[in-house]
Amino acid sequence: MTFPERLVEGYRAFLSNRLPEEQTRFRELAESGQSPEIMVIGCCDSRVSPEVIFDARPGELFVVRNVANLVPPYTPDGAQRAVSAALEFAVQALKVKHIVVLGHAQCGGIRAFAEETAPLSPGDFIGRWMEMIAPAAKTLGPRGDQLLPDYLGRLEKASLLTTLDNLMSFPCVRILVERGKLQLHAAYFGVATGTLAVYDRDNGSFRSVASAEHREALGVPRF
Ligand SMILES: [Zn+2]
Repeated sequence: MTFPERLVEGYRAFLSNRLPEEQTRFRELAESGQSPEIMVIGCCDSRVSPEVIFDARPGELFVVRNVANLVPPYTPDGAQRAVSAALEFAVQALKVKHIVVLGHAQCGGIRAFAEETAPLSPGDFIGRWMEMIAPAAKTLGPRGDQLLPDYLGRLEKASLLTTLDNLMSFPCVRILVERGKLQLHAAYFGVATGTLAVYDRDNGSFRSVASAEHREALGVPRF
């Protein structure tokens, strides 16, 4: 068995760059424990690391990742407990102030649901996990003659909203949201473009964040 050389190389880079910069912070976090104020629920997709997108330092983000950034509805005796356990810990022990559900373009999980791809295994873990997308798909109605990429984009965003609803089905979340101590957010990352859009409840749509800086970063002239 060989430990991947890519990881050893990456660790060497961490030792020469990031560790010296962050050593004090790591030591303090080891002594005092973590106290992140933000939980991010993201997708496993290797292109959408929340720590990279949000330029996060150690101890800043409490991150849970799963296929298609989903949260199952509250089911105390249900089987899907990994997300629920992390959520409970974040809300009740860490007392995070924000939960961000981070979706993204070209999500393979969402696509698998929309295309009803054949099960990958006899257990069909992905297929069964992705059944959680069904309520979001229902809110959109039939695909009709929409182009697949357009439909998938709408489904990725609709799923973020049903995930926010699912979060509210947890009593520990709902109570804190109602008391104004916890805020829930949905955000959407455009993999190809690097854009970030955040859901605006007031007008019911996703709005780009830092779009001027985004244009500048890509070298697009301002008019
Ligand atoms: Zn994904």
